[in-house]
Amino acid sequence: MELSQLGSQACWAVETVSQAMQLGRSVQSAIRDFKLTKDDRSPVTVADFAIQALVGRSLKRKYPEAFLVGEEKAESLRSEEGKSVLEKILHYLKPFVGNASDMEVLDWVSQGEKETAEEFWTLDPVDGTKGFIRGDQYAVALAFIRKGQVEIGLLGCPNLSFETIPETREKGTLMVAVKGKGAWVVLDKQLMPVRVSKQNQFQKAVAIRSLEKSHTNSGRVSSVLETLSVEIPPIQMDSQAKHAVVAGGDADLLFYFLSPDEPNRKIKIWDQAAGVLIVEEAGGEVTDLDGLPLDFNCGRKLAKNRGVLVTNGFLHNNALDAIKRLKI
Ligand code: AMP
Ligand code: MG
Repeated sequence: MELSQLGSQACWAVETVSQAMQLGRSVQSAIRDFKLTKDDRSPVTVADFAIQALVGRSLKRKYPEAFLVGEEKAESLRSEEGKSVLEKILHYLKPFVGNASDMEVLDWVSQGEKETAEEFWTLDPVDGTKGFIRGDQYAVALAFIRKGQVEIGLLGCPNLSFETIPETREKGTLMVAVKGKGAWVVLDKQLMPVRVSKQNQFQKAVAIRSLEKSHTNSGRVSSVLETLSVEIPPIQMDSQAKHAVVAGGDADLLFYFLSPDEPNRKIKIWDQAAGVLIVEEAGGEVTDLDGLPLDFNCGRKLAKNRGVLVTNGFLHNNALDAIKRLKI
């Protein structure tokens, strides 16, 4: 299948996320130049803002009326300290946009400050910031939501590869899904369909969870896996790259249990929208921990949902039963 068959919105999104992946790669490979002090987040801040600016600019040019709900706000860049960050953002944006002024960059970033509406795009420019700083996995996550339904989802994972798809070794993985049409890895202008695994035995199943212990409840993940007799130790990975791994069939179960430090935390829409559609269109299943569908109709957060369970579909009901029995 060819990319052009997915329609103009999806084609625009693929082109834009592909550029965002290149930008992310150039910042991540220059991390050493940032002379980091401990807990310094500056490289990921630069990548976050630069990617939101890139997407905001591109959307404004292609679809001037469209809404973008992004994770970042331009406000902090307007301060005195913001000046040096802006300089770096301009440097990394230059190959894609040429010379630009501070005011233009601020305008592009603030394109992503819209509220949710009947239809809008949502963007996490760098999902998995801890992974990005570690030189590890992260994802550019972009989705189009209409009337609460995710209609287009993209995950650009510059460091993710699949053994079965040799092209991903060099360039990473860009997945796109269109509701009702399917999910694919983008290889230049060609699309290669992705499919979840057919694994239906927990003993042989591969689970995947957050690498950052503070983002999940590792104890609960372990209890559920033990209850389900899962024998293989779970893969630990940052960001929605995890959803891409399930969609591509390299893992079968993905848990988002809330951290015990923040039991009432609500997940942001951009942390799930793209990944959810990609898994569903690859044949998998996604609900919250109570078995409810994720409700993208409640503004910027999944206010009506608790945690997330992603599976290949075959394992979903039994995993939900275990969660219920353990009163998680
Ligand atoms: P991960 O899948 O571990 O890379 O998680 C990435 C996402 O977790 C980020 O986009 C954050 O929005 C979210 N996050 C950050 N802190 C927490 C927390 N304490 N509990 C749950 N999720 C978090
Ligand atoms: Mg995120």
